[in-house]
Parts: sequence; structure tokens; C-alpha cells
Amino acid sequence: MTEEQDHGRRSVAQGSRIDPYIDRYAARAAGMVASEIRALFAVASRPEVVSLAGGMPYVTALPLDTVGELVADLVARRGTVALQYGSGQGDPHLREQICEVMRLEGIDAGPDDVVVTVGSQQALDLITRIFIDPGDVVLAEGPSYVGAIGTFAAYQASVVHVAMDAQGLVPEALDESIQALHRAGRRVKFLYTVPSFQNPAGVTLSAERRRRVMEICRRAGVLVVEDNPYGLLGFDGDPMRALRADDPDGVVYLGSFSKTLAPGFRVGWALAPHAIRDKLVLAMESAVLSHSSFSQLAVGQYLATQPWREQIKTFRELYRERRDALLGSLEALMPPGCTWTRPAGGFFVWLTLPEGLDSKALLPRAVAERVAFVPGTGFYADGSGAGNMRLSYCYPEPDRIREGVRRLAGVVQQELLLHDTFGTGAMRALGGVDTPGPDLA
Ligand code: PMP
Repeated sequence: MTEEQDHGRRSVAQGSRIDPYIDRYAARAAGMVASEIRALFAVASRPEVVSLAGGMPYVTALPLDTVGELVADLVARRGTVALQYGSGQGDPHLREQICEVMRLEGIDAGPDDVVVTVGSQQALDLITRIFIDPGDVVLAEGPSYVGAIGTFAAYQASVVHVAMDAQGLVPEALDESIQALHRAGRRVKFLYTVPSFQNPAGVTLSAERRRRVMEICRRAGVLVVEDNPYGLLGFDGDPMRALRADDPDGVVYLGSFSKTLAPGFRVGWALAPHAIRDKLVLAMESAVLSHSSFSQLAVGQYLATQPWREQIKTFRELYRERRDALLGSLEALMPPGCTWTRPAGGFFVWLTLPEGLDSKALLPRAVAERVAFVPGTGFYADGSGAGNMRLSYCYPEPDRIREGVRRLAGVVQQELLLHDTFGTGAMRALGGVDTPGPDLA
């Protein structure tokens, strides 16, 4: 770089907020955009704000002293392994333990088919990396997990949303989408779905629909990516049978210890048919060589020595109480015209505002009233969702949840009055793409 060029670059960088490298990025970087609502969320993380926005597991409920001792013991006894590089596929013993966890959802698989990843987020990234060329179609529920939409955008996939209702993905809508895409000569690379306690909608695919969705995908030759981080966090009865349990060849299953143990270990996994498994291991090695041996062994040690099923029960009870606090206060306080889902597990409620109200326009006012949520637009690749918001109940204590809903109900009520007075135009103060940060995912 010449001196003038360097000077030019610096003055552009200093004189404005224009990115001086803008003409050098790869085309795929265009899909990586920060959210304009991020700044608001920085305010929302202040203690006086009740955040119904974040999807952070309540790790305070873990026996932290015990986990600390376990980690210290791991380094003292097996430090030379825990602090060394590991294999690209992941620790073999942990992969066996993962198979035991998956058995709770009816999956019969061997450790050879499992690849340990940096959270299930990395599994999503690797699957997208090995399947998607720019413009390829990914089918996904509408709304869908914001982190998946971000990954698909980074690989320039074309996301086509499929309708959902209280029973999850609508099979007829899926069938229609596949056929319409087929007629248009476009190949669907995979269906991305979160069948249990979906993020953000909180709904669960019924057993009957699970069969129909799999039948439709099998018939059309569409691979299914089943993302299931919340499957063991159901509030009633046994876990649902995973899609993968009945179709080992047609499904790539993604799992995670982020919600059943702690996200800080960043341990997730993919269970995939052999050929895909091979590609995933190669992609994993090119991305990070190997996952952290330390994290994997710590999780393995936790599973081997601690009552992990009991801990999951503790989490379930805690989240059930919070779900009840949220649903109860929505019922008591929200103005007429608002509707919402009733999750039977997981972390999230999806709220629909009365006609004409815009959740993104509402957010600054809500934050001023010390309550935060995530506007629905972040959960669609096509910018829809303005009439919706995601409310999470996983992190705040029940009393704080009730207080948060009281504040939110007041803001919605006010907004309704404004709307009745000035009409829809007044509500659309903000625009643009939403990609909230990881603590909101
Ligand atoms: N999938 C879904 C549906 C999620 O909600 C999340 C986290 N919020 C992830 C994947 C990623 O989780 P992790 O990488 O921590 O396993």
C-alpha cells in the first residue's frame, strides 16, 4: 500500500463510519450484518431492565462448586490429555456418552457416527458449509432460529420459510413449497427444523406431523437437519421421539449440552449418516483442527460422575415455573388483540401483537420502560415478523418476569392508543435487518 492509499484509508476510517475494507470483502461477507437493535440491547442488559430478550440458560442452578472441583481434578489427574490437541471427530468416550443421552429420545446410534462440535452452532455452520453453494435453497420454519438464519446468510443460501402453527411445521405447506421449488427448477438442499420447543415459537411438532414431515421429505429426497437443543427440557411427560430415531439415513441430528448443562463448555454434536459424517470431520479439522479436549473431558467427567438426569429435572422444574409466571401474567395483563403460544418446554413464547403494531418500533419505548424482548423480524430471512416478538422466560426469576410483563403490557396499551390516534405510519420508526448477538440467540 502506498502512503497516500494508507492515508486515504485511515481518513475514511476516522472521518466517517464507512468501512474502509468494504470493497475487499468476499461476497459472502455481505450477508454478515450487525443489528441496529444491538445498541438497544446494550442498554437492555442494565440491571434495572427486565430482559425477556436473552436466551441464556440459568446456569446459576448448577452445582458450581462441584463442577469447579471436577475441573480441578481433571487437570490434576488427566492434564496431559485434557490440555493436548484432540481428534477432529471428538473424544471417543464422550461420543459414547452422547449416544446414551440421545437414547432418551429413541435414537439408537453408535459413537462412530457422532462428531463433537463447538456447540450445535458449529455443527450448523459445518453442515451449511458442506451442502450450500450460493443461491441453494434451505427450507426453514417461519419463524426460525436467528443463529441458523445468520449461518445460512453467511453461506449465501436462499432461505424459504414454511408456515407453522400450534402443532409445529404444517406438512401441507412443506409439500407445497417443495413442489413449487421443484417446478421452478430449484433444488432444495435440506429442511432445517427445530421440532421440539422451537426457538423462537415455543411450539412442538406433533407425533402425527413428525411422520408426515418425514414422509414428505423422504419422497422428495430432501435431507432433514433436526436441531434439537431443547428436546430434554419438556415440562410434561417423556421426551418426544426424535425425527432421527425413525430415519437414520435421512436426518442429520444436532444436539447440545448448552441447555442441559452449560453453554460455556461449548460442547455440541452432529449425528450423521457415514458419508456426511466423513465430510463433517474434514470440515471440522479445517475449521478448528479439533474441539477443546479440556471442554470435552470436563463434560465427559460431569456425565460420568454427576446425577445429570436429576440436574435436567431441576432445570425443567425451574423453567416450568418461569413459563407459568410468563403465561399467567400475559393472560392477566396483556391488552385484547394480543395472542401468544403456550410452550410445553424450552425457553420461548412467541407473541403476536394486535393488527398494525410494529414490534421493532415498540422496542425503544419498551426499553425506556425497562423491559426488553426480541422483535420478530430477526427470525425471518425475508424481513417479515414485524407483528411478532419473542419473549424468553429462561433467565429472570418469576417475580421479575411478572414485573416485566406488567411493563410490557403498559407499553403495548400505550402503543395501541397511539395507533388508534395516528395510524400505522407512526409505528414504523425503525427498519433494517436484525441479527441480535449470541446472548440473545
Ligand atoms: N439451535 C437452536 C435452536 C438454539 O436455540 C441455539 C442456541 N440458542 C443453538 C442451536 C446453538 O446452541 P449452542 O451452540 O450453544 O449449542
